[in-house]
Amino acid sequence: RLSAPQSTGESPPSLSHRPRRRTRAAAVGTGPSPRKNEYDLLVIGGGSGGLACAKEAAQFGRKVAVLDYVEPSPQGTIWGLGGTCVNVGCIPKKLMHQAALLGSALKDAQHYGWNISQPVHHTWSVMAQAVQNYVKSLNWGHRVQLQDKKVKYFNVKGSFADPHTVRGLTKAGKETVITADNIVIATGGRPKYPTDIAGAREYGITSDDLFWLKESPGKTLVVGASYVSLECAGFLTGIGLDTTVMMRSIPLRGFDQQMASLVTEHMESYGTKFLKRCFPTKVEKLKSNRLQVTWKNADLNKEETDSFDTVMWAVGRAPDTKTLNLETIGVKTNSETGKIIVDASEATSVPHIYAVGDITEGRPELTPTAIAAGKLLAQRLFGQSSELMDYDNVPTTVFTPLEYGCVGLSEEAAVQRHGSDNIEVYHAYYKPLEFTVAERDAAQCYMKMVCLREREQRILGLHFIGPNAGEVIQGFALGIKCGATYPQMMKTVGIHPTCAEEVTKLHITKRSGLDATVTGC
Ligand code: FAD
Ligand code: NDP
Repeated sequence: RLSAPQSTGESPPSLSHRPRRRTRAAAVGTGPSPRKNEYDLLVIGGGSGGLACAKEAAQFGRKVAVLDYVEPSPQGTIWGLGGTCVNVGCIPKKLMHQAALLGSALKDAQHYGWNISQPVHHTWSVMAQAVQNYVKSLNWGHRVQLQDKKVKYFNVKGSFADPHTVRGLTKAGKETVITADNIVIATGGRPKYPTDIAGAREYGITSDDLFWLKESPGKTLVVGASYVSLECAGFLTGIGLDTTVMMRSIPLRGFDQQMASLVTEHMESYGTKFLKRCFPTKVEKLKSNRLQVTWKNADLNKEETDSFDTVMWAVGRAPDTKTLNLETIGVKTNSETGKIIVDASEATSVPHIYAVGDITEGRPELTPTAIAAGKLLAQRLFGQSSELMDYDNVPTTVFTPLEYGCVGLSEEAAVQRHGSDNIEVYHAYYKPLEFTVAERDAAQCYMKMVCLREREQRILGLHFIGPNAGEVIQGFALGIKCGATYPQMMKTVGIHPTCAEEVTKLHITKRSGLDATVTGC
């Protein structure tokens, strides 16, 4: 998709009428003419999407640079190269989730004959240190990979000076000016703080801080009820901390609500406390250094308070598009969300400027989608490809104590799209074999498959709550992407004894009203 090398002869060039894309040869050509851009591709943001795009572009022999800069959190937490996922997202989260799962495994182990002297304690600082060391090794790995692929890395905060020029500022305030033919914005997002709650920003932390705490957060209030909140509250409970989730409306908005309710129901039985239909109003610091939180309980219509060691806001994430100076160069954003508007090819409103990942409007905020979008973009820009990212049927997992994995449509979305008469939902309550000897309650181990009712009964969505939900859903996601049908799933031979095999045996429809509990082997 590169245009032929060209020289416009404009002198000086009008920035808005620069050649849209020039080949490297053109960029390094000589002559009096327009300013030559130093790089074929400049990526602003060294997270999941940005690094993937930069590395892929470098494979095509292009001259590529990446800028990455981490603004400290309001509490002063800072980290290295790699973006949200590596430093303050997927990776530390999954490792701390694993720490919590091991706690449950210790309890199970006694039923299996292990003698574990009681009481068993968890030490936050040991876990945190190990997780942080691993994250630091990933930071280093990313730097080495960029070097190996000859991608130039600048630890500067970028903002546009003109459509082909980005000004980068180091922490010390030193300026670097970088020019490029193509620019990709992949600056992700950061946790939001509520703006109308006194003490929220002063005393509260967010997920940007939690994973880097040196000491245990102690008794913790987590405000919000989506992915970040439930996952963090889940592992905090699992490692033995007194943990409360404050939920103003529904859990896991956007997910299948039957599954979401089972997730929170399990968390409650696991020990997480829930303050439902409660709205925080202020946070104050007590003499004891504890934080006193006041909230309105909408059901009781009264004000309530309690004190906590830590208050964590998990009330959503926001893109930081303001500091990029996008208005000046004409990159359009959604005025409500601040996110960058892109088309199917990740192109912004300015021809040679693209955006991928969490910063883009309407895309899933997930690492694999950011990576895939970044790679495909580089292939379209510098290879022969015209392949677009397909955002349909993206699988995901919520890593709560009992995990919830899904792909495709929720039951609500399927009903809305096709009508309830046109869909069939097959479901089952099952008991993971490993729960039996351990005498674990399996009340929330549930799965359902949402299918079209007519003709070949194409599968529209698959939802699974149970151990290793991500591992279970990943393979089925391929089938659903390939258009799998209910009869094909029933012809798939299960692997015994596993939880995943139950998917291949789903035969009770919700419509029948029959008991969906799996019995026998
Ligand atoms: P990011 O990874 O956020 O990278 C953007 C980078 O740009 C950052 O390093 C930022 O500091 C830098 N930057 C910003 N502005 C500038 C600037 N002006 N100049 C230079 N650099 C700049 N996803 C999953 O798929 N699975 C999970 O299990 C999962 N768990 C998560 C858990 C938590 C707690 C959170 C918060 C997120 C989780 N996510 C998960 C989401 C995932 O982390 C993001 O979707 C992903 O990191 C987005 O990648 P990105 O490239 O868009 O942005
Ligand atoms: P979300 O925007 O998904 O959820 C925000 C939550 O905070 C909602 O429950 C919302 O309630 C609540 N909330 C918002 N404002 C307030 C307020 N003022 N007071 C009280 N509650 C409030 O954000 P998350 O940060 O949880 O997740 C961001 C994204 O990160 C996700 O969409 C996901 O894509 C990604 N992610 C992925 C993970 C994974 O793959 N496992 C894990 C973690 C994050 P309400 O519904 O009422 O608005």
